[in-house]
Amino acid sequence: MTIDWSASTPFFNDDHRAYAEVVRQFTTNEIVPYVDDWERAGMVARDLYNKAAQIGLFGDGFEAEYGGHGQRDALMRLVIMDEVSQAGAGGVSASMLSNYIGLPPIQRFGSDELKARVIAPCQAGERIAALAITEPSGGSDVARIRTTARRDGDHYIVNGSKTFITSGMRADFYTVAVRTGGEGPSGISLLLIEGDREGFDRTPLEKMGWLSSDTATLYFDDVRVPVSNLIGEEGTGFSAIVNNFNAERMDMAVQSFSFSRVCYNEALQWARERETFGKRLGEHQVIRHKLVEMDRRINAGEAWTQLLAWRLNQGDNPVAEIAECKVAATTTFEFCAREAAQVLGGASYLRGSVVERLYREVRVQAIGGGSEEIMRDLASRQLGI
Ligand SMILES: Cc1cc2nc3c(=O)[nH]c(=O)nc-3n(C[C@H](O)[C@H](O)[C@H](O)COP(=O)(O)OP(=O)(O)OC[C@H]3O[C@@H](n4cnc5c(N)ncnc54)[C@H](O)[C@@H]3O)c2cc1C
Repeated sequence: MTIDWSASTPFFNDDHRAYAEVVRQFTTNEIVPYVDDWERAGMVARDLYNKAAQIGLFGDGFEAEYGGHGQRDALMRLVIMDEVSQAGAGGVSASMLSNYIGLPPIQRFGSDELKARVIAPCQAGERIAALAITEPSGGSDVARIRTTARRDGDHYIVNGSKTFITSGMRADFYTVAVRTGGEGPSGISLLLIEGDREGFDRTPLEKMGWLSSDTATLYFDDVRVPVSNLIGEEGTGFSAIVNNFNAERMDMAVQSFSFSRVCYNEALQWARERETFGKRLGEHQVIRHKLVEMDRRINAGEAWTQLLAWRLNQGDNPVAEIAECKVAATTTFEFCAREAAQVLGGASYLRGSVVERLYREVRVQAIGGGSEEIMRDLASRQLGI
């Protein structure tokens, strides 16, 4: 079971509950039956984006004019992230939802022309967006990115490389962090680069998990990009990236607790059915305690994410707590994947087991979008320690 939206929580209203049901049906019918095929194929079916668009899955935080929901509702976003995560396939979530990291800077800082050209077709499921920040030289220290965009008349000439980019092989639009100025954060800008520009190349990466998410290294070799593709003002890219990270980290925290819940549910079901030493597995105290400990940590996390989402909706910007919450979420996920695997025993080690897949996805949640070390560091600075 996912979060009980009908429970007497003060946070969710009838719209949230109704949409949770829509996304649940979508996950059950359009994702769960195909996950194993997509994991083998190395990418989700292209028409999943069209189907997701039909239920408005990419719309939170985007203007209705461009196909969005017409408002930002962090609680609705929590509903989306949690319900899609119930498929227990982080690769599907990451790939299908890369619009949520690639498009927000354009919605927030892009020109109307750029919004119409990029956001609208992505909301319709016809195009895919990706976010390209991380470089081969490092991802944590964003202020030191090296990819350059040199002004040449009405164009920028882009040179450099990005790596670990989700939806990197088949995205149509890339929101790319480039250096238009000198060293440090004030020299960074965001540039929209289309996937079919001359001099833009990409190669796929083979990974431990998230197999159904196409992850790539990008290469820019004298790529000419019109100045009209600049997102916001020159030199404002770093603050736009930081702003974007907050929402991404919140999404990843919600997903990590949801994946923890999937692990718990798998372990619970097994503990009820499996017999060892003449009694049900769940009757052994050691196993019962494992399950309670998982449930206890997940309950605390779900309550925290709901409170944070509500506070975001009130206009609060709890940067330190979101960073802390992401750490709590990924360490909980690590714990739950381990404990679920122990409860399932050898069955957890077989391909096709949801726990086996999630076990391989723990590290990317703990590293991607800001690692546990970087999250603790960020929180410590915010807290003035
Ligand atoms: C599957 C996958 C998908 C991804 N998708 C995207 C994407 O779509 N777009 C994108 O831009 N990026 C993406 N990333 C990149 C991800 O955000 C980075 O991997 C992450 O930010 C860490 O950067 P790094 O791997 O270069 O590690 P580094 O920055 O080299 O750090 C290495 C290790 O050192 C630690 N460390 C670094 N600095 C410090 C410090 N000051 N104190 C203590 N410890 C420190 C880090 O925590 C990390 O554990 C993805 C990564 C993966 C694995």
